[in-house]
Amino acid sequence: MDLNNKSLFREKCFVNGLWSDSEDGKTIDVNNPATMEIIGKVPNFSAEQTKSVINKADVAFQSWKNTTAKERSIILKKWSDLIIENVDDLAKIMTIEQGKPLAEAKGEILMGAGYIEFYAEEAKRVYGDIIPDPRPGKRIVIIKQPVGVVGAITPWNFPNSMITRKCAAALAVGCTTVVKPASQTPFSALAVAELAKVAGFPDGVFNIITGSAKNIGMELTKNPKVKKISFTGSTEVGKILMEQSASTVKKISMELGGHAPFIVFNDANIDEAVAGALQSKFRNSGQTCICTNRIFVHESVYDVFLEKFTNEVKKIKVGNGLDEGIVSGPLIDKSSLEKVIDHVQDAVNVGAKVAVGGDVHPLGGNFYQPTVLSNVTTEAKITFEETFGPVAPVYKFSNDEEVIKMANNTPYGLASYFYSRDIGRVWRVAEALEYGIVSINNGLPTIPEVPFGGVKESGMGREGSKYGLDDYLIIKYISMGGI
Ligand code: NAP
Repeated sequence: MDLNNKSLFREKCFVNGLWSDSEDGKTIDVNNPATMEIIGKVPNFSAEQTKSVINKADVAFQSWKNTTAKERSIILKKWSDLIIENVDDLAKIMTIEQGKPLAEAKGEILMGAGYIEFYAEEAKRVYGDIIPDPRPGKRIVIIKQPVGVVGAITPWNFPNSMITRKCAAALAVGCTTVVKPASQTPFSALAVAELAKVAGFPDGVFNIITGSAKNIGMELTKNPKVKKISFTGSTEVGKILMEQSASTVKKISMELGGHAPFIVFNDANIDEAVAGALQSKFRNSGQTCICTNRIFVHESVYDVFLEKFTNEVKKIKVGNGLDEGIVSGPLIDKSSLEKVIDHVQDAVNVGAKVAVGGDVHPLGGNFYQPTVLSNVTTEAKITFEETFGPVAPVYKFSNDEEVIKMANNTPYGLASYFYSRDIGRVWRVAEALEYGIVSINNGLPTIPEVPFGGVKESGMGREGSKYGLDDYLIIKYISMGGI
């Protein structure tokens, strides 16, 4: 890779401050989803090796937990600064292994650094409580302490920020971490590990291991020294990890799948709604957990919205994310492409019309055309399943009650969007939507300052904001008598 800082491209795991191979020398190939070329390989760690990493993280925890919040804050801030200094190289690595356009990759890196900066500051504000005791001669004190070693498993769609969003909060409060990034995007993770080393985290505090998800996941969830599992990925895998974590009663956070509704009411500013729908649908080629999956438009503005939206989607430039002016990259792999093909064909079979796109892209490989479907019926799979691709199904509705019911008719509950200028409706709809995130007249709600997370089968726990610290803390009640 043509990088300014060559030390950022690592093909080894980062364990206890050292770069390590797997014991048996086994590796996993990583490819570029835009060209299908193999770009490098990473170690395939076994369950046994994972256990030894956990032991090292546990040893490191015994001293890291006793550092002051200020000491941790200084190292975190340095880490964030280093990520920003190296943004161009980190973005290049990300685009090559993940496919998203360079500008989007840079945006993610800066967001990833933003989480670290936020938690560097928030580390100093982990306050306890003193509760007035109703009993004479006694006092009640509440303190918060780090939970211990954290096992973090992250997805390929945000190879940087899903790691920093978890680890910055965990490290800020005094936990140590063992991270398993997605096998398709390990190089972004290993690059931030190199910068963590330079920033000065003590050995064993921040570790990154690659390999078989099943073996590593089993060890992280069953090992009693791991006190917390933080997972971002599919609901299917999240359920497996919850079951596995039950045997050791671990604290868990689950950031899982989504099926976001995007509602355009008849009083919406249509141009703003079109811009918001484009942002929330086509970012990362539709491969984000908060991507709009179903667009509901009031019947009185349906035609005008559809026409304007379709015209904008026609302008989306698809190609290799390293090339100038590209807005939409490839899908991550063949099976993702097949799911998109299946969802579109199925929707058309049960009555949908293709307004634009509707097929694989002439570029071939993992590329699919940005697609808008109109007249989508509720029999279509796309109505109920997360597509994770550049396809926007547009539905018609006639009243608020009906659309709220349609929007909530899913086991998922991560992000939702709606456009309206009517203050009464804004409150009513925001309260009625069964989602962890309700984004009103705004297509991009994610920033470090907010509590990100879902309800229902989209998961539990929150990442970002002051609430994101709670997932890595235990509350201890100290009862004092004899006063
Ligand atoms: P995934 O298949 O669930 O994989 C996510 C991570 O879990 C990867 O590191 C994967 O490793 C690992 N994994 C897979 N099977 C495992 C097992 N049996 N035990 C332990 N780990 C296992 O999800 P994905 O396809 O990468 O990501 C897309 C999904 O993530 C979508 O559903 C999306 O909505 C969700 N997501 C949610 C959020 C959120 O904040 N709520 C954010 C981003 C994405 P390998 O790569 O080695 O298989």
